[in-house]
Amino acid sequence: MASVPDIPQSVPGPSGALSWGGKMARTSGMQATVVVSEGPTTHTVFGEIFVGDPTRSWSTNQSFSAGGPGVLDNCAGGSVGGGVGLVADKDGCSIDNTRLVDDAYNQGWTAAAAATGPNAGLWYVSNPTTKMNIRSQVNKKYRPDGWKNTVPAVPPISGACAAAYSPNAVPQMNNYGINTICDATTQFGAFYSYAWSHEAQHISLLQPVATNSAHDLYKEWGKLVETTEGALDAAAETRKDDILADVRAAALGNHNGNSQNWLFWYYTPFALPTVNQWTLSTVTTPH
Ligand SMILES: [Zn+2]
Repeated sequence: MASVPDIPQSVPGPSGALSWGGKMARTSGMQATVVVSEGPTTHTVFGEIFVGDPTRSWSTNQSFSAGGPGVLDNCAGGSVGGGVGLVADKDGCSIDNTRLVDDAYNQGWTAAAAATGPNAGLWYVSNPTTKMNIRSQVNKKYRPDGWKNTVPAVPPISGACAAAYSPNAVPQMNNYGINTICDATTQFGAFYSYAWSHEAQHISLLQPVATNSAHDLYKEWGKLVETTEGALDAAAETRKDDILADVRAAALGNHNGNSQNWLFWYYTPFALPTVNQWTLSTVTTPH
């Protein structure tokens, strides 16, 4: 018994009895068919457990916002390496560059079962609490607040930085500073604008898909009725994952395979042979 919007549910009741003192669980569109000794009978609902609270909605429990510099700083893993940007749960650190992550939904629901009556033992989602709170972000290594490194005393970049600063200083600079203060002739500015625009597109694309009624997670959970708690949890998790997959696919709609190349100064902390060096590099965005 998974999603049962319009299918009557046969529930076990005491053979021959026509009424019970307990409540009946009823989801949106669901009715209980009580099996008595002489045959199936549609039993009048005299006490209800509203499985889905009609005043609540997944859609109204969402919050979308674009991040500003520094919003996801504690998520160091994706900020140090990885790609141009990311879309992630505002409150979480499970990030995956330029993708939504499963943790974008804070898993949360309460499983409950009818204790008495003809629906005794049927499990349903009584309290959905999960929400989606999405931020888009450009990788910190490209931002003005990005990590700084010492500018080596070798031309041409040292000369450019020295001219921009005091002649005898050995400045600490980041990718943003090198390309905007020391050498503003690079393509960094266009790249940076592109990156923010691209990450914002992810939010714009996922928003209508996450909020349409077919992806209203609260309402979908309200349709679930199972005979065990484990089965209910599995069904709720599956529905959540299915909706997440749809939202993620929509969010990635701007990945059209059109790569672009940008030439600017880039600090290479890992890759050989230019480890720990500034190089005038071609950075490719593979979108
Ligand atoms: Zn992207």
